[in-house]
Amino acid sequence: MIDIKKYILDVEDFPQQGINFKDITPILNHPAVFQEVIDRMAAFVLECQADVIIAPEARGFLFASAIAYQTHKKFVLIRKPGKLPRATHHVSYDLEYGSNILEMHQDDIQANEKVVIIDDILATGGTIEAIVKLVELSHGQVVGLSVVGDLTTLHSPNLLKGLSFQALVKY
Ligand code: 5GP
Repeated sequence: MIDIKKYILDVEDFPQQGINFKDITPILNHPAVFQEVIDRMAAFVLECQADVIIAPEARGFLFASAIAYQTHKKFVLIRKPGKLPRATHHVSYDLEYGSNILEMHQDDIQANEKVVIIDDILATGGTIEAIVKLVELSHGQVVGLSVVGDLTTLHSPNLLKGLSFQALVKY
């Protein structure tokens, strides 16, 4: 098994002073590594028996679309405000400074569909909580979360309660 941590680089003071950013782009630069990441995340999605894969822009899309292709699952986009062309649900959530809004097409998820969220990095969990709310607005059910990297100290363990969870790398 490939040591995926070696392909996630620490970048100090990006995008601002004091932040240690995890750069996942080396995974994409190494085809065998990207393939293993997708294979392992796809296996998790199949185990969850999900109907739908959902992911936030932009880095979530890189992984989720390859996983959707491999698993033959429906893929739903979560985007920043004003990017989706049809009627959307939107949820706002607090950041350390200010707030953020995420949107999802209202008709992309049907009632009772089982959803797995895919993203590159789990940090405070604010993005995941907002996506769970968006799915609930469409009466879907989030059953699982799969991320490439989990910054375990930045979020509460309660975030993952009731969810199947996969993190390929933990910090
Ligand atoms: P959270 O909402 O959990 O605080 O932040 C997670 C979101 O922000 C993810 O969508 C992720 O793409 C992005 N993010 C936060 N910190 C990092 C990081 O260190 N590296 C990368 N690649 N993305 C991050």
